Amino acid sequence: MKFATKAIHAGVHPDPTTGAIMTPIYQTSTYAQRSPGDNKGYEYSRTHNPTRTQLQDALAALDNGQHGLAFASGMAAIDCVMHLLKPGDEVISTDDLYGGSYRIMTKVYEPLGIKFHFVPMGDMEAVRAKVTPKTKLIWVETPTNPLLNIIDIAAASVVAKEAGALLAVDNTFSTPYLQTPLDLGADISVYSLTKYMAGHSDTVMGALVFNDATLLERLSFYQNACGGTPGPQDCFLVLRGLKTLHLRMQRHCENGRAVAEYLRQHPKVEKVYWPGFESHPNHAVAAKQMRDFGGMISFVLKGDKQEDAIAVLEKFELFTLAESLGGVESLSGHPATMTHASIPAEQRRKSGLSDSLIRLSVGIEDAEDLIDDLAQAIG
Ligand SMILES: *Cc1c(COP(=O)(O)O)cnc(C)c1O
Repeated sequence: MKFATKAIHAGVHPDPTTGAIMTPIYQTSTYAQRSPGDNKGYEYSRTHNPTRTQLQDALAALDNGQHGLAFASGMAAIDCVMHLLKPGDEVISTDDLYGGSYRIMTKVYEPLGIKFHFVPMGDMEAVRAKVTPKTKLIWVETPTNPLLNIIDIAAASVVAKEAGALLAVDNTFSTPYLQTPLDLGADISVYSLTKYMAGHSDTVMGALVFNDATLLERLSFYQNACGGTPGPQDCFLVLRGLKTLHLRMQRHCENGRAVAEYLRQHPKVEKVYWPGFESHPNHAVAAKQMRDFGGMISFVLKGDKQEDAIAVLEKFELFTLAESLGGVESLSGHPATMTHASIPAEQRRKSGLSDSLIRLSVGIEDAEDLIDDLAQAIG
Protein backbone atom coordinates (compact mmCIF):
# COMPACT_ATOMS: atom_id res chain seq x y z
CA MET A 1 0.00 0.00 0.00
CA LYS A 2 1.21 3.52 -0.79
CA PHE A 3 1.47 6.22 1.86
CA ALA A 4 -1.82 8.10 1.32
CA THR A 5 -3.78 4.84 1.30
CA LYS A 6 -2.06 3.70 4.48
CA ALA A 7 -2.72 7.06 6.16
CA ILE A 8 -6.43 6.46 5.67
CA HIS A 9 -6.78 2.68 5.98
CA ALA A 10 -3.83 1.11 7.82
CA GLY A 11 -4.63 -0.49 11.15
CA VAL A 12 -8.29 0.52 11.21
CA HIS A 13 -11.22 -1.80 10.58
CA PRO A 14 -14.98 -1.18 10.58
CA ASP A 15 -16.30 -1.87 14.08
CA PRO A 16 -17.34 -5.55 14.21
CA THR A 17 -20.49 -4.91 16.27
CA THR A 18 -22.02 -1.99 14.32
CA GLY A 19 -20.00 -1.54 11.15
CA ALA A 20 -18.99 1.99 12.23
CA ILE A 21 -16.39 3.18 9.72
CA MET A 22 -14.61 5.44 12.20
CA THR A 23 -12.84 3.76 15.09
CA PRO A 24 -15.13 3.99 18.16
CA ILE A 25 -13.80 5.73 21.26
CA TYR A 26 -13.77 2.84 23.73
CA GLN A 27 -14.20 5.02 26.79
CA THR A 28 -13.87 2.21 29.30
CA SER A 29 -11.29 1.33 31.94
CA THR A 30 -12.23 -2.35 32.20
CA TYR A 31 -13.80 -5.27 30.29
CA ALA A 32 -16.20 -8.07 31.28
CA GLN A 33 -14.66 -11.53 31.65
CA ARG A 34 -16.66 -14.72 31.04
CA SER A 35 -14.69 -16.59 33.69
CA PRO A 36 -11.50 -15.51 35.53
CA GLY A 37 -8.82 -14.95 32.87
CA ASP A 38 -11.25 -15.75 30.02
CA ASN A 39 -11.61 -12.42 28.17
CA LYS A 40 -11.68 -11.03 24.63
CA GLY A 41 -8.04 -9.86 24.73
CA TYR A 42 -8.80 -6.78 26.80
CA GLU A 43 -8.62 -6.67 30.60
CA TYR A 44 -7.74 -3.15 31.70
CA SER A 45 -7.21 0.01 29.63
CA ARG A 46 -3.75 0.92 30.91
CA THR A 47 -2.61 -2.34 29.33
CA HIS A 48 -4.81 -2.44 26.19
CA ASN A 49 -7.65 -0.43 24.73
CA PRO A 50 -9.18 -1.10 21.30
CA THR A 51 -9.00 2.56 20.16
CA ARG A 52 -5.33 2.61 21.12
CA THR A 53 -4.69 -0.73 19.40
CA GLN A 54 -5.97 0.63 16.08
CA LEU A 55 -3.86 3.76 16.43
CA GLN A 56 -0.75 1.74 17.31
CA ASP A 57 -1.28 -0.47 14.25
CA ALA A 58 -1.77 2.59 12.02
CA LEU A 59 1.41 4.20 13.36
CA ALA A 60 3.43 1.02 12.79
CA ALA A 61 2.20 0.76 9.19
CA LEU A 62 3.01 4.41 8.36
CA ASP A 63 6.59 3.97 9.62
CA ASN A 64 7.05 0.62 7.80
CA GLY A 65 7.47 -0.95 11.25
CA GLN A 66 6.09 -4.05 12.92
CA HIS A 67 5.02 -2.56 16.24
CA GLY A 68 3.69 0.74 17.54
CA LEU A 69 3.17 1.88 21.13
CA ALA A 70 1.27 5.04 22.04
CA PHE A 71 1.90 7.22 25.09
CA ALA A 72 0.27 10.10 26.92
CA SER A 73 2.94 12.48 25.56
CA GLY A 74 6.11 12.53 23.49
CA MET A 75 8.03 12.77 26.77
CA ALA A 76 6.33 9.62 28.12
CA ALA A 77 7.45 7.82 24.93
CA ILE A 78 11.03 9.09 25.38
CA ASP A 79 10.92 8.12 29.06
CA CYS A 80 9.94 4.58 28.03
CA VAL A 81 13.06 4.32 25.83
CA MET A 82 15.23 5.60 28.71
CA HIS A 83 13.91 2.73 30.86
CA LEU A 84 15.90 0.36 28.64
CA LEU A 85 19.07 1.80 30.27
CA LYS A 86 20.68 0.98 33.58
CA PRO A 87 23.25 2.74 35.77
CA GLY A 88 26.68 2.73 34.12
CA ASP A 89 25.28 2.77 30.58
CA GLU A 90 26.24 5.56 28.18
CA VAL A 91 24.22 7.42 25.57
CA ILE A 92 25.46 9.53 22.68
CA SER A 93 22.93 12.19 21.72
CA THR A 94 22.58 14.97 19.17
CA ASP A 95 23.74 18.22 20.81
CA ASP A 96 21.04 20.39 19.23
CA LEU A 97 17.86 18.74 20.43
CA TYR A 98 14.40 19.31 21.85
CA GLY A 99 14.69 21.02 25.25
CA GLY A 100 12.49 18.45 27.01
CA SER A 101 14.67 15.61 25.72
CA TYR A 102 17.78 17.37 27.01
CA ARG A 103 16.03 17.92 30.35
CA ILE A 104 14.94 14.30 30.88
CA MET A 105 18.44 13.11 29.98
CA THR A 106 20.37 15.51 32.20
CA LYS A 107 17.93 16.08 35.07
CA VAL A 108 16.17 12.74 35.40
CA TYR A 109 18.48 10.00 34.08
CA GLU A 110 21.97 11.43 34.58
CA PRO A 111 21.45 11.56 38.39
CA LEU A 112 20.50 7.86 38.22
CA GLY A 113 23.96 7.01 36.89
CA ILE A 114 23.53 7.08 33.11
CA LYS A 115 26.13 9.09 31.20
CA PHE A 116 25.10 11.29 28.25
CA HIS A 117 27.46 12.71 25.63
CA PHE A 118 26.00 15.55 23.54
CA VAL A 119 27.85 15.79 20.25
CA PRO A 120 27.34 17.57 16.93
CA MET A 121 26.41 14.71 14.61
CA GLY A 122 27.17 16.36 11.26
CA ASP A 123 30.40 14.37 11.47
CA MET A 124 29.93 10.70 12.42
CA GLU A 125 33.60 10.48 13.44
CA ALA A 126 32.71 12.71 16.41
CA VAL A 127 30.08 10.14 17.38
CA ARG A 128 32.42 7.20 16.83
CA ALA A 129 35.01 8.89 19.06
CA LYS A 130 32.56 8.78 22.00
CA VAL A 131 31.70 5.08 21.64
CA THR A 132 32.82 2.90 24.54
CA PRO A 133 31.84 -0.65 25.51
CA LYS A 134 29.21 1.00 27.74
CA THR A 135 27.44 2.78 24.86
CA LYS A 136 23.92 1.38 24.75
CA LEU A 137 21.94 4.01 22.88
CA ILE A 138 22.54 6.59 20.16
CA TRP A 139 19.88 9.31 20.14
CA VAL A 140 19.32 11.25 16.95
CA GLU A 141 16.93 14.08 16.22
CA THR A 142 16.76 15.14 12.55
CA PRO A 143 16.04 17.79 11.42
CA THR A 144 17.20 19.20 14.74
CA ASN A 145 15.20 21.67 16.77
CA PRO A 146 15.55 24.61 16.25
CA LEU A 147 18.63 24.80 13.99
CA LEU A 148 17.36 22.40 11.31
CA ASN A 149 20.64 20.51 11.11
CA ILE A 150 20.35 17.22 9.29
CA ILE A 151 21.88 14.02 10.61
CA ASP A 152 22.60 11.09 8.32
CA ILE A 153 20.45 8.31 9.81
CA ALA A 154 21.99 5.52 7.70
CA ALA A 155 25.49 6.61 8.76
CA ALA A 156 24.40 6.78 12.42
CA SER A 157 22.99 3.26 12.14
CA VAL A 158 26.40 1.97 10.97
CA VAL A 159 28.02 3.47 14.08
CA ALA A 160 25.25 2.08 16.32
CA LYS A 161 25.65 -1.42 14.87
CA GLU A 162 29.44 -1.31 15.31
CA ALA A 163 28.89 -0.22 18.91
CA GLY A 164 26.22 -2.83 19.59
CA ALA A 165 23.95 0.05 20.63
CA LEU A 166 20.35 0.87 19.75
CA LEU A 167 19.66 3.79 17.43
CA ALA A 168 16.59 5.87 18.30
CA VAL A 169 15.50 8.67 15.97
CA ASP A 170 13.14 11.41 17.11
CA ASN A 171 11.13 11.77 13.90
CA THR A 172 8.68 14.39 15.20
CA PHE A 173 9.72 17.11 12.72
CA SER A 174 9.69 14.86 9.66
CA THR A 175 6.86 12.42 10.27
CA PRO A 176 6.91 9.17 8.26
CA TYR A 177 5.59 11.16 5.28
CA LEU A 178 9.02 12.75 4.89
CA GLN A 179 11.31 10.12 6.34
CA THR A 180 11.10 6.55 7.67
CA PRO A 181 14.02 5.98 10.08
CA LEU A 182 13.49 2.21 10.41
CA ASP A 183 14.08 1.85 6.65
CA LEU A 184 17.40 3.68 7.15
CA GLY A 185 18.60 1.30 9.87
CA ALA A 186 17.20 2.89 13.05
CA ASP A 187 15.85 0.59 15.78
CA ILE A 188 13.19 2.93 17.17
CA SER A 189 11.25 5.84 15.64
CA VAL A 190 10.19 8.27 18.36
CA TYR A 191 7.29 10.71 18.07
CA SER A 192 5.62 13.55 19.77
CA LEU A 193 2.26 12.93 18.07
CA THR A 194 1.22 16.32 19.49
CA LYS A 195 2.83 18.00 16.50
CA TYR A 196 2.39 17.10 12.80
CA MET A 197 1.00 13.61 13.35
CA ALA A 198 -2.14 14.76 15.19
CA GLY A 199 -1.72 18.03 13.32
CA HIS A 200 -4.48 20.20 14.81
CA SER A 201 -2.95 21.41 18.08
CA ASP A 202 -5.73 19.75 20.04
CA THR A 203 -4.05 16.90 21.88
CA VAL A 204 -0.77 15.85 23.53
CA MET A 205 0.48 12.33 22.75
CA GLY A 206 3.57 10.34 21.84
CA ALA A 207 4.59 7.06 20.20
CA LEU A 208 7.37 4.58 19.51
CA VAL A 209 7.58 2.43 16.38
CA PHE A 210 10.06 -0.45 15.93
CA ASN A 211 10.48 -3.94 14.45
CA ASP A 212 12.22 -6.10 17.01
CA ALA A 213 10.18 -8.61 19.05
CA THR A 214 12.47 -8.32 22.10
CA LEU A 215 12.01 -4.55 22.04
CA LEU A 216 8.25 -5.10 21.91
CA GLU A 217 8.45 -7.24 25.01
CA ARG A 218 10.61 -4.76 26.91
CA LEU A 219 8.98 -1.51 25.79
CA SER A 220 5.40 -2.74 26.20
CA PHE A 221 6.36 -3.98 29.68
CA TYR A 222 7.49 -0.44 30.63
CA GLN A 223 4.53 1.14 28.84
CA ASN A 224 2.18 -0.84 31.09
CA ALA A 225 4.32 -0.93 34.24
CA CYS A 226 5.01 2.83 34.28
CA GLY A 227 1.55 3.67 32.95
CA GLY A 228 2.13 6.72 30.73
CA THR A 229 -0.61 5.62 28.35
CA PRO A 230 -3.08 7.86 26.48
CA GLY A 231 -6.86 7.90 26.81
CA PRO A 232 -9.06 6.62 23.99
CA GLN A 233 -10.42 10.07 23.06
CA ASP A 234 -6.89 11.32 22.38
CA CYS A 235 -6.11 8.17 20.36
CA PHE A 236 -9.20 8.91 18.27
CA LEU A 237 -8.05 12.49 17.62
CA VAL A 238 -4.64 11.28 16.43
CA LEU A 239 -6.28 8.62 14.21
CA ARG A 240 -8.41 11.35 12.65
CA GLY A 241 -5.38 13.60 12.17
CA LEU A 242 -3.39 10.82 10.48
CA LYS A 243 -5.98 10.51 7.72
CA THR A 244 -4.84 13.85 6.25
CA LEU A 245 -1.15 13.64 7.19
CA HIS A 246 0.01 13.39 3.56
CA LEU A 247 -2.11 16.34 2.41
CA ARG A 248 -1.08 18.52 5.32
CA MET A 249 2.60 17.66 4.95
CA GLN A 250 2.53 18.47 1.23
CA ARG A 251 1.16 21.94 1.99
CA HIS A 252 3.50 22.46 4.97
CA CYS A 253 6.42 21.75 2.62
CA GLU A 254 5.12 24.03 -0.18
CA ASN A 255 4.47 26.89 2.23
CA GLY A 256 7.77 26.22 3.99
CA ARG A 257 9.63 26.67 0.71
CA ALA A 258 7.76 29.91 -0.09
CA VAL A 259 8.45 31.35 3.38
CA ALA A 260 12.11 30.27 3.40
CA GLU A 261 12.68 31.84 -0.02
CA TYR A 262 10.96 35.06 1.02
CA LEU A 263 13.04 35.33 4.19
CA ARG A 264 16.29 34.57 2.39
CA GLN A 265 15.95 37.60 0.11
CA HIS A 266 14.74 39.95 2.89
CA PRO A 267 17.29 42.74 3.50
CA LYS A 268 16.77 42.62 7.30
CA VAL A 269 17.33 38.87 7.58
CA GLU A 270 20.85 37.68 8.30
CA LYS A 271 20.43 33.93 8.04
CA VAL A 272 17.70 31.38 7.29
CA TYR A 273 17.92 27.79 8.50
CA TRP A 274 16.00 25.45 6.19
CA PRO A 275 17.32 22.13 4.82
CA GLY A 276 15.73 22.66 1.40
CA PHE A 277 18.32 25.28 0.41
CA GLU A 278 21.19 23.89 -1.63
CA SER A 279 23.45 26.10 0.47
CA HIS A 280 22.36 24.28 3.67
CA PRO A 281 25.45 22.39 4.90
CA ASN A 282 23.62 19.04 5.02
CA HIS A 283 21.32 19.57 2.02
CA ALA A 284 22.65 16.48 0.23
CA VAL A 285 21.86 14.23 3.20
CA ALA A 286 18.40 15.81 3.54
CA ALA A 287 17.74 15.22 -0.17
CA LYS A 288 18.87 11.60 0.21
CA GLN A 289 16.86 10.63 3.29
CA MET A 290 13.82 12.95 3.16
CA ARG A 291 11.03 13.13 0.61
CA ASP A 292 10.74 16.93 0.96
CA PHE A 293 12.07 19.52 3.40
CA GLY A 294 9.26 20.34 5.78
CA GLY A 295 7.69 23.48 7.16
CA MET A 296 10.02 24.26 10.07
CA ILE A 297 12.23 27.30 9.49
CA SER A 298 14.43 29.33 11.80
CA PHE A 299 15.98 32.70 11.07
CA VAL A 300 18.15 35.37 12.62
CA LEU A 301 17.79 39.12 11.98
CA LYS A 302 20.69 41.34 10.94
CA GLY A 303 22.37 42.75 14.04
CA ASP A 304 21.44 39.61 16.03
CA LYS A 305 19.64 41.53 18.80
CA GLN A 306 17.19 39.72 21.06
CA GLU A 307 15.01 42.85 21.37
CA ASP A 308 14.59 43.08 17.56
CA ALA A 309 13.51 39.44 17.44
CA ILE A 310 11.00 40.04 20.24
CA ALA A 311 9.59 43.11 18.44
CA VAL A 312 8.96 40.96 15.33
CA LEU A 313 7.34 38.21 17.40
CA GLU A 314 5.02 40.74 19.03
CA LYS A 315 3.93 42.10 15.61
CA PHE A 316 2.95 38.77 14.04
CA GLU A 317 -0.77 38.41 13.38
CA LEU A 318 -0.97 34.99 11.70
CA PHE A 319 2.20 33.45 13.11
CA THR A 320 0.82 33.19 16.65
CA LEU A 321 3.51 33.29 19.31
CA ALA A 322 3.15 29.94 21.09
CA GLU A 323 4.97 26.83 22.19
CA SER A 324 4.61 23.75 19.95
CA LEU A 325 4.57 23.25 16.19
CA GLY A 326 3.17 21.11 13.42
CA GLY A 327 -0.47 22.22 13.57
CA VAL A 328 -2.50 23.47 10.61
CA GLU A 329 -2.03 27.05 11.88
CA SER A 330 1.28 28.90 11.64
CA LEU A 331 3.13 29.49 14.91
CA SER A 332 6.23 31.43 15.89
CA GLY A 333 8.54 30.94 18.81
CA HIS A 334 11.65 32.25 20.53
CA PRO A 335 13.64 29.11 21.44
CA ALA A 336 16.11 30.84 23.79
CA THR A 337 13.33 31.88 26.18
CA MET A 338 10.64 29.30 25.32
CA THR A 339 11.25 25.73 24.11
CA HIS A 340 14.99 25.75 24.84
CA ALA A 341 15.05 27.76 28.07
CA SER A 342 15.83 24.51 29.94
CA ILE A 343 19.14 24.24 28.04
CA PRO A 344 21.82 26.33 29.80
CA ALA A 345 22.83 29.50 27.87
CA GLU A 346 26.39 28.26 27.50
CA GLN A 347 25.27 24.93 26.00
CA ARG A 348 22.84 26.80 23.70
CA ARG A 349 25.58 29.05 22.34
CA LYS A 350 27.92 26.10 21.91
CA SER A 351 25.40 24.46 19.60
CA GLY A 352 24.95 27.75 17.68
CA LEU A 353 21.51 28.73 19.01
CA SER A 354 21.52 32.52 19.07
CA ASP A 355 19.34 34.50 21.51
CA SER A 356 17.75 36.33 18.57
CA LEU A 357 16.74 33.20 16.65
CA ILE A 358 13.06 33.03 15.63
CA ARG A 359 11.53 29.66 14.87
CA LEU A 360 8.52 29.32 12.56
CA SER A 361 6.16 26.41 12.21
CA VAL A 362 4.69 27.22 8.81
CA GLY A 363 1.05 26.15 8.67
CA ILE A 364 -1.21 25.26 5.75
CA GLU A 365 -2.83 28.67 5.22
CA ASP A 366 -2.42 30.59 1.94
CA ALA A 367 1.29 31.25 1.44
CA GLU A 368 0.60 34.82 0.25
CA ASP A 369 -1.08 35.71 3.53
CA LEU A 370 1.82 34.22 5.48
CA ILE A 371 4.32 36.25 3.49
CA ASP A 372 2.26 39.43 4.00
CA ASP A 373 2.38 38.77 7.74
CA LEU A 374 6.17 38.32 7.67
CA ALA A 375 6.50 41.50 5.62
CA GLN A 376 4.52 43.63 8.08
CA ALA A 377 6.22 42.13 11.16
CA ILE A 378 9.82 42.34 9.94
CA GLY A 379 9.16 45.74 8.30
C1 LIG B 1 7.35 18.35 21.38
C2 LIG B 1 8.51 17.47 21.16
C3 LIG B 1 8.80 16.42 22.05
C4 LIG B 1 8.00 16.18 23.31
O1 LIG B 1 6.69 15.80 23.05
P1 LIG B 1 5.42 16.16 23.98
O2 LIG B 1 4.29 15.58 23.21
O3 LIG B 1 5.38 17.64 24.12
O4 LIG B 1 5.65 15.49 25.29
C5 LIG B 1 9.88 15.59 21.74
N1 LIG B 1 10.65 15.80 20.66
C6 LIG B 1 10.40 16.81 19.79
C7 LIG B 1 11.27 16.98 18.60
C8 LIG B 1 9.33 17.66 20.01
O5 LIG B 1 9.11 18.68 19.16
